[in-house]
Amino acid sequence: MKIEVCLQSFLFYSWMRSVDFRSRRFAFRGAVGEPSASISRVDNVQEPCNDICLKINRSNGLKTMLKRKGFDSGSLSSANGSLLQNARGFLLFISPKSYFFIQCRSEKKGMVKTMLTGLQVAVLGGDARQLEIIRKLTELDAKVYLVGFDQLEQSFAGAVKEKLEELPFHELDALILPVAGLQPTGEIETVFSSAHPQLTKTMLSKTPDHCLLFTGISPPVLTKLAEQAGRTLIRLFDRDDVAIYNSIPTAEGAVMMAIQHTDFTIHGSSVAVLGMGRVGMSVARTFANLGANVKLGARKSEHLARAIEMGLTPFSIDQLPQQAESLDLIINTIPSLVITSQAIAKMKPHVFIIDLASKPGGTDFQFAKKRGIKAILALGLPGIVAPKTAGQILAGVITDLLKDAAITKGE
Ligand code: NAP
Repeated sequence: MKIEVCLQSFLFYSWMRSVDFRSRRFAFRGAVGEPSASISRVDNVQEPCNDICLKINRSNGLKTMLKRKGFDSGSLSSANGSLLQNARGFLLFISPKSYFFIQCRSEKKGMVKTMLTGLQVAVLGGDARQLEIIRKLTELDAKVYLVGFDQLEQSFAGAVKEKLEELPFHELDALILPVAGLQPTGEIETVFSSAHPQLTKTMLSKTPDHCLLFTGISPPVLTKLAEQAGRTLIRLFDRDDVAIYNSIPTAEGAVMMAIQHTDFTIHGSSVAVLGMGRVGMSVARTFANLGANVKLGARKSEHLARAIEMGLTPFSIDQLPQQAESLDLIINTIPSLVITSQAIAKMKPHVFIIDLASKPGGTDFQFAKKRGIKAILALGLPGIVAPKTAGQILAGVITDLLKDAAITKGE
C-alpha cells in the first residue's frame, strides 16, 4: 500500500527530531516495508494529511508497547530503517536508533485510513438510517452484529444477524440503538423485524466498562438503564454538528410538507419561522431562498439581529398574536408552547402550521383543531425525507467516535 507523504527540505531523521509534530501537518512518500532511503529525503510538499500525531518513544518497554499496538515482534526486530503499518492503519518508522510511532487518521484518497479492525459493534434495531451506519462500520472492518434485522434482505459482508440474548456482550465495544433510543417499556423498536427485543440492565452490565452506547435521543428509560449499568451514553442529537447537519433534511422536509398541504406557492407567501436555533436558522434560510417573505420570531436580541443580517423580518416571539393575521404558513422549532390560543384566534383560516419541535410541540393543537386551522406535529423528518443522508450523518459521527475509542483501546 502506498503512503503519500509530504516532507520538508532536509533529512527525514533530523526533520522528525526538530518538528513539533502535534502542530504540523505532514505525510510521507514511501511504501510500507520499503527501506528508509526512500523516505529520508525531503520531497515535494503534497496535499497535507489531516489529524496526524506522532509519538517518539525511546523507553525500554517500547517493544512491548508496540506489540500491544499490533506490530508483531518479527517485523520489529528485522525492520530497521523501514516503515511498517499495523492493522488499524497506524504507522511505525524504525530507524536504527529510534522508533517513531505515527497515528494517521486521514481519510484522504491515497492516504492511510484508520480502520475499526478489532472493534465489535452491535446494531440494535432502528430504521433505514441504521443501514448506512452498518455499511460504514463494515467498510471500516468492524465486526458487526445485527439484532432486529431478520426481515432485511440486504446483506453486509462482515455483519452477522444475531438474537439479542445470544450477543457476546462481554466482547462488545459499542451498542448502537435506534435514534429514538428505547421504547418506554425498554423494547428496541425496529422496522426490519416483527420482534421487539428488550434490552436489560443484566445484558448491559455484561459489556466491558469501555463499551459505548449510541442513541439519537435518550428517553428516561434508557438514561436510567445506562446509569444503572455504568455505561457511557452518547446522545448524538445533543451534538451541534449532528443537529446542524440534520437541520438540512429537516428544512427540506418542511418544504415538502408545505407543498403537500397548501394550495399556494411558497414563493411570495408570508411565512413565520419560530426559533433561531440550528433548525430555525436552516428553515428560515431555505424558505427565504424559495422566495417566501420570512418573518423570524425569537426572544433573544442577538437572534433578532441575526434575522436582520439574513434579510428576514424579525419579531419578538411574544408578539406572535399581533403578527398572526398576516401569515400564510407558520413553522415552529421552539419546544415550548408559543403558538397559543390567542395567536391561533387571530389566524386566517387557510394558515398551515408545521410544528417541528420535539413532542408535544409548541402548538395548542386542540384549539387549532377547534378553529379549523390545519396544524401538524411533523417529527423525524430527516429519517422520512432523506434516510440515506440522515444515516450517513450519524454513521460519520459514530465511526469518528469509534476510531477514537479504537485508538484508546489500542494504547
Ligand atoms: P436549538 O438549536 O436548541 O433551538 C431551539 C430554539 O428555541 C432556540 O433558538 C431557543 O432560543 C428557542 N427557544 C427555546 N425555548 C424558548 C422559549 N420558551 N421561548 C422562545 N424561544 C425559545 O434546537 P434545534 O436543534 O434548532 O431543534 C429545535 C427543535 O426541533 C427541537 O425540539 C428538536 O428536537 C426538533 N427537531 C425536529 C426535527 C424534525 O424532524 N421535526 C428535526 C430536528 C430537530 P433561546 O436561545 O432563546 O433559548
